[in-house]
Amino acid sequence: MVKYELPFNFDLNLLNFIDDNIDKDWIEFLFLSPFKDDSSNARSHVEGVAKSNWTYTVPNSRDDYTNFIKEIQKHGIKPAILFQEDTPIASNILDYYLKLGIDSFIVNSDELAKNIKKIDSKLKVVASITKILSAKDLWENDYSMYDKIVLHFPFNRALCKLKELPSFYKYTLIANSYCVYNCKSAKDHWSSTKETSSKVPCLKNINKDDLIYIPPEYIYMFEPYVDSFKIQGREYPTNILSEEIYCYYKKIHNPLAGAIYNRLSPFNGCEYFNKGKDLEFVNYNNPHSGLPHPA
Ligand SMILES: [Zn+2]
Repeated sequence: MVKYELPFNFDLNLLNFIDDNIDKDWIEFLFLSPFKDDSSNARSHVEGVAKSNWTYTVPNSRDDYTNFIKEIQKHGIKPAILFQEDTPIASNILDYYLKLGIDSFIVNSDELAKNIKKIDSKLKVVASITKILSAKDLWENDYSMYDKIVLHFPFNRALCKLKELPSFYKYTLIANSYCVYNCKSAKDHWSSTKETSSKVPCLKNINKDDLIYIPPEYIYMFEPYVDSFKIQGREYPTNILSEEIYCYYKKIHNPLAGAIYNRLSPFNGCEYFNKGKDLEFVNYNNPHSGLPHPA
């Protein structure tokens, strides 16, 4: 079974929803930002911004933050912490999370990944999407310090290229992002602030043909190539986030994704999900691929 990495929006109602509706075995972990004083993260620009009668807020005190972690664990779910800065965090900060019994981290810094593995090789370390790893990166660099790698947007529309990636790594795809596969501003999305996020030059509102959202009914096409899927939406209100989660859990139609269903059908799925297959980012001329296969 392919598991799902779910976002946590610091609303305990989300945990109750999961209790009532979702099989815990289906959940890989619940990922959340670190305590605000410990590290910045890729979604700090959405903190405190009102959206559909909801404001994503993060705990103000370390005690509050600790209580959220304990609640998640009480519900029988693993928390995973996002460390998306380029540089490793201090070891005393990491210690705080380890002492809480957290064993999964999503990180941007290879050095931090190695440090965590040095502490205990059983700790799980995932390479964050913020690393923006291309096919060439994956073939030519060493990412063996990671248990898993989150693939960047172009791969959501380069289905046939997934099987050409190194098979010695495990991968995750973000299933429900509404960005475009060739977004030139991905980095700016993640690093933007409350003030600049609306000015990021993203074409998602114009190029509806290029969106990377994979509707629940089509997710099976990607299942053979990934170890898990990731659902985004730490900043979503609980009613919307729980609907997203439920649709993937049940693999049912998500009414929120209308623009995608207008362009995708069981008859053009292959073509649709391969629109980006010629992008340089997803291609690598593997020097070994030309060799004859051993009999
Ligand atoms: Zn974008």
